Amino acid sequence: MAIPIPSRQLFIDGEWREPVLKKRIPIINPTTEETIGSIPAATAEDVELAVDAARKALARNKGKDWASAPGAHRAKYLRAIAAKITERKSELAKLEAIDCGKPLEEAAWDMDDVAGCFEYYADLAEGLDAKQKAPVSLPMDTFKSYVLKEPIGVVGLITPWNYPLLMSTWKVAPALAAGCAAILKPSELASVTSLELGEICKDVGLPSGILNILTGFGPEAGAPLASHPHVDKIAFTGSGATGSKIMTAAAQLVKPVTMELGGKSPIVVFDDVDLDKAAEWTAFGCFWTNGQICSATSRLLVHENIADEFLDRLVKWCQNIKISDPLEEGCRLGPVVSAGQYEKILKFVSTAEHEGAKILYGGVRPKHLKKGYFVEPAIITNVTTSMQIWKEEVFGPVLCVKTFSSEDEAIELANDTIYGLGAAVISNDLERCDRVAKALQAGIVWVNCSQPCFTQAPWGGNKRSGFGRELGEWGLDNYLTVKQVTQYI
Ligand code: NAD
Repeated sequence: MAIPIPSRQLFIDGEWREPVLKKRIPIINPTTEETIGSIPAATAEDVELAVDAARKALARNKGKDWASAPGAHRAKYLRAIAAKITERKSELAKLEAIDCGKPLEEAAWDMDDVAGCFEYYADLAEGLDAKQKAPVSLPMDTFKSYVLKEPIGVVGLITPWNYPLLMSTWKVAPALAAGCAAILKPSELASVTSLELGEICKDVGLPSGILNILTGFGPEAGAPLASHPHVDKIAFTGSGATGSKIMTAAAQLVKPVTMELGGKSPIVVFDDVDLDKAAEWTAFGCFWTNGQICSATSRLLVHENIADEFLDRLVKWCQNIKISDPLEEGCRLGPVVSAGQYEKILKFVSTAEHEGAKILYGGVRPKHLKKGYFVEPAIITNVTTSMQIWKEEVFGPVLCVKTFSSEDEAIELANDTIYGLGAAVISNDLERCDRVAKALQAGIVWVNCSQPCFTQAPWGGNKRSGFGRELGEWGLDNYLTVKQVTQYI
């Protein structure tokens, strides 16, 4: 059952504040296409207030509860946030399902991951103190050196809409664990659950100004954050086009950035596989969350010996899944996030057909759903490497297929992309899997699976998929600087 969307303001300095220009953005339910509420639209004036609040919060809490205080102080807040997320899990999952069209069951798993991520970085915050003053071995004994890891300062966190609260958490949890103060700018297309994080911070008594949440459009709220001289770092997840603009702004101030960008990830299926299992992982790898995953394995490379049989199984998988209102039980695919994404996906499919590809299945509105931004998962064959569908990220449920006849050809095709985020290889020959994994140009390689993601393991891409890594200890390092202290003895 649908629930009302809370009406919130911007979260600045521990309080809900109306945007200076009093503007709001409507929230459209992608299942019904109806307006169901609104979020505040921040502008440069609000960014100014939030940055000021964050800087003052760092100064006020220095050595007490934040920054140079023991990590256990910060861990206590992170654990309290995790507990609140768990307590509100079913409500938050529903809000997310309504806001971005994610099946309710998936959204509930995401909330477990959100709580788990806050817990994980609470552990790392506690462990940080023991890592301070790590000695450096020097070539002469008249000097001794050690290393301090210190919070970077005030950080701007700009996130996308596909995993709304989880993507925010991947940045907020390590930033707070490190002792930074943060300004979170979630996507204007799905901000509802990230705003709830503000209420949770109030509930757990997080010192005011340590986390500020500004919703709004990218050019109006994100751009002034990226170019603000008192924001010490930007961590960004989103498209390459936006990433490039943020890098340009940050470059003017020599501001560090991490970039988690898009992908066009391959999945390579050899001819020695269990066809059913391989088809399940292939479908999951591309159609999970409607393909709105940066690492979706959306280019299938299948050995020519099994291609026909394999594609039959993929088509059957598509025919059998339930596409429905994300709140309905058993829903596997809900609508895509917005009218703009819906139109964009259909355009990709029609362009592929126009360029000579064959639409083997889907790529249209399901007949039983007259409203909402629903798209049947698409399988596209007869693809060439010069086609748009081979080269560009769709960020929708569209799988393009090519066959190969040798391992070398598979690797060459897999690496034939400007991106380097994820890649998968499926084969019963584990030595071959190791060889192929080594040869694939990607930040994450899955063997005999696609898309599993663990808070403990590094996440991020190469080539135009960005640089820097989130999650694990690498995620914490994003928000720390390294200071060398050297003493003459
Ligand atoms: P987007 O680039 O349109 O927006 C991302 C964020 O940037 C939003 O909050 C937006 O408001 C903000 N923004 C837009 N213009 C801005 C500007 N000029 N200055 C500052 N901020 C600005 O991306 P999206 O459509 O929200 O997300 C989809 C993209 O994100 C895909 O390319 C996907 O692959 C990528 N993504 C990557 C990862 C990863 O881990 N590598 C994860 C999820 C999504």
